[in-house]
Amino acid sequence: MQGVILQTINKQKASSVAVATHCPYCALQCGMRITRDAAAPSGDEAFPVNNGALCVKGWTAAELLNHPDRLLRPMKRNARGALAPVSWDDVFKAIAEAFRTAQAKHGRDAVGVLGGGSLTNEKAYLLGKFARVALRTANIDYNGRFCMSSAAAAAIKAFGVDRGLPFPVADIARAEVILLAGANPAETMPPLMQYFERSRANGGLLIVADPRRTITAQSAQLHLRLIPGTDAALAGGLLHILIRDGLIDEAYIRERTEGFNEAKAVAATYWPDRVERITGVAEAQLARAAHALGNARSAMILTARGPEQQSQGVGNALSFINLALALGLPGRPDSGFGAITGQGNGQGGREHGQKADQLPGYRRIDDPAARLHVARVWGVEESEIPGPGRSANELLGSLGGDIKALFTIGFNFAVSAPDASQVIGGAQRLDFLCASDFFLSETARMADVVLPAAMWAEEEGTMTNLEGRVIRRRRVKPPPLGVKSDIEIICDLAARLGRGRYFQYANVEEVFNELRIASQGGAADYSGVTWQKIEANQGVYWPCPNEAHPGTPRLFTHSFPTSSGRARFHAVRHAPAAEEPDAEYPLFLTTGRVLAQYQSGAQTRRIARLSEMNADPCAEFHPRAALAYGLRDGETINLVTRRGSAKFKVKVTTGIREDTVFVPFHWGDEQSVNRLTNAALDPVSRMPEFKVCAVRVEKLGA
Ligand code: SF4
Repeated sequence: MQGVILQTINKQKASSVAVATHCPYCALQCGMRITRDAAAPSGDEAFPVNNGALCVKGWTAAELLNHPDRLLRPMKRNARGALAPVSWDDVFKAIAEAFRTAQAKHGRDAVGVLGGGSLTNEKAYLLGKFARVALRTANIDYNGRFCMSSAAAAAIKAFGVDRGLPFPVADIARAEVILLAGANPAETMPPLMQYFERSRANGGLLIVADPRRTITAQSAQLHLRLIPGTDAALAGGLLHILIRDGLIDEAYIRERTEGFNEAKAVAATYWPDRVERITGVAEAQLARAAHALGNARSAMILTARGPEQQSQGVGNALSFINLALALGLPGRPDSGFGAITGQGNGQGGREHGQKADQLPGYRRIDDPAARLHVARVWGVEESEIPGPGRSANELLGSLGGDIKALFTIGFNFAVSAPDASQVIGGAQRLDFLCASDFFLSETARMADVVLPAAMWAEEEGTMTNLEGRVIRRRRVKPPPLGVKSDIEIICDLAARLGRGRYFQYANVEEVFNELRIASQGGAADYSGVTWQKIEANQGVYWPCPNEAHPGTPRLFTHSFPTSSGRARFHAVRHAPAAEEPDAEYPLFLTTGRVLAQYQSGAQTRRIARLSEMNADPCAEFHPRAALAYGLRDGETINLVTRRGSAKFKVKVTTGIREDTVFVPFHWGDEQSVNRLTNAALDPVSRMPEFKVCAVRVEKLGA
């Protein structure tokens, strides 16, 4: 593991003329310094999250700023059906006309808006306002629905607030035992591994629960290699052993929680040999993990997309929270429960109103007081703000149905949506699709108009990293001639729709200052965060309710923001995945990320050095599975599910369970694993089941 991580970390000395900003990709938001000529960035040693380290994605990120594929002019489909350059004036006219026509014929909600977890806080906030005030549609959601929605729903249920990590990453280094469930930071955010390595150097123990023996799992002292989709049973079994062996924190449970007896009654049914049968994890390993956690002076339980991207995702996350509460971890020094956010602004992007059921500050859109507060900030009547809309997957499922026109910013759903062929079919039936992007992504390729957007190093704004730390994205150079920032695009479009008076900002900081007021009193209160305070302190942790407030690095130290002030246990029972292997589709299919690609790959697939490292998606098979199906390492095969088929190269590895195939999801078209995934949704979070479905393998030419 060490070799791979070190290979991906670059600590070049910063140039004196470099601007300090942050990597555009994942939620670690590594500090980087970059010069105006956009030469390779170097890690910013002053930023106390990555401490100067970058992964290979970070130090190659600037190559895209001058990439030949970069979109530099707005484009509109011409009479021959081809996308051709047009002026901004023409393209705005076309968009406004298309949206007006769709709404006049089919009602306001016939126009949908989809945002992304990579948008700055200012863009996410403004996009939510644009949907409600300029378009007056209820139908806005974002791609974080596919990422953090289960963790977010579980955290709100249990703790009363959703901040992925309610403590700084530095605390990880001091935890004595860490349980990492369905997370692979050694590939997804390598610089984070420095904290796990420090914990280990201090004598700490790392336990990884994952169906794959990932690079992270290889670095752990204990690997619980569970069957995909059995996370709640695993956590239930661990809780059973903790209770049975007297390892729970009874004083904490009594004083700081509620609902323990119901959770205990369910845990009583997860006796270890039953859990071994459900999960495939040996009873002795379960006992070792439970005892390590129960006997530790400090411990952390961290989840990621493994347990969360399931149709039981909220229940799975709650089952790990139950464990953390039984051990008395949340709010205790060097301990706690956290969910590792994935996308660059996956945290801030889920707080300020681009979710279907949400207003800024993590307010609910169906809360009358919240509606009134935000209506006053926006200068509209409360009754003008639409109610809750459809979640991302439901919105995508309505394309070409009652959603007739769509505006999307930075959401390559043709690659990232589950059951992608269905979604692409719907998008092709739309009357009008408008995509704002940097490149002609698989989604932009289908659009009627495409808007060239400014990239990270060409814009100002703020992001909120996985710790809830609000940080500054700084402009290094202006965007190329003809390219606009999404903030300008939203404001110009609002003006074309006759709502420009609500979108008057002299600069991006004014958008942030309005966001601060809109968030005041909400769960994610940014009202005391200023750009100056961020500059002076390497970021500010929310909540920060006034300008004199220093921000809140650690939550839950004294109480939880629930009505009782206590955290809540939940009685969680394991339920099978929506689709399990059978005679026709005999293997589990699970999906995830690889080191050198990011999300839908629209950016990272264009970087030569990253493509050399991960050129194509490989389907990982265990040697015994390869033997059973007559597969050779490197041959191309078809994987087939009830939803479709796609082609992958076989990679034979002992790093995967014999009953499971793993495929990364960063590619589109024939190589799109999301043509195969199941769109079964969690009933609470509306998270699709990316992590489990049933698959069969077909040899090509057979
Ligand atoms: Fe850091 Fe993530 Fe960027 Fe890698 S991709 S440099 S881990 S922010």
